[in-house]
Amino acid sequence: MIPFIGLKLGVHHFDFQIEDTFFQDFEFSEVTAGDFQVQVQVEKKSTMMEVSIQMTGVTPIICDKCGDEMKLEVEGNDHWVIKWGEQTEDEEDEVWIFGPKEHFIDVKHRIYELIQLSIPAKRVHDEGECNQEVIAKLNQLSTSEDADTQWISLKNMELENNTDLLLDDDSDEEE
Ligand SMILES: [Zn+2]
Repeated sequence: MIPFIGLKLGVHHFDFQIEDTFFQDFEFSEVTAGDFQVQVQVEKKSTMMEVSIQMTGVTPIICDKCGDEMKLEVEGNDHWVIKWGEQTEDEEDEVWIFGPKEHFIDVKHRIYELIQLSIPAKRVHDEGECNQEVIAKLNQLSTSEDADTQWISLKNMELENNTDLLLDDDSDEEE
């Protein structure tokens, strides 16, 4: 929460350090831990305010490939405008309307969303940094799966051959 009532016209900076406890307020948060530095800039003008957020951080996350925990570096930024109106409407992403009773800018939810959005859909270690033991086991598994598939196709071939033989037998009998 940033109080803006006392702010003079001009640019103001607010720094936040976000830790694990931040995410306890968000029940379905995919991110539950990490260290994030957030810089919020509020530019107060006579007719409106502009809010910018810069976020960088590190969060522990499970690698999709090897299952090990990895430290994922993330960053993101957000920007929106607050204008004055009859009553508060902060549903819109780009523009918030603040009624006369507002005294604070609630940046918490925006920061939360920014962090969620910064997590990529595919999370894997950089090339060569996966847990080599796990990767070796995975490779072994996929090799034996290949062997199984080959065996099955060989069995199918034998069956086909048998059918051919049976057909041959039939034709022999007919002659
Ligand atoms: Zn990995």
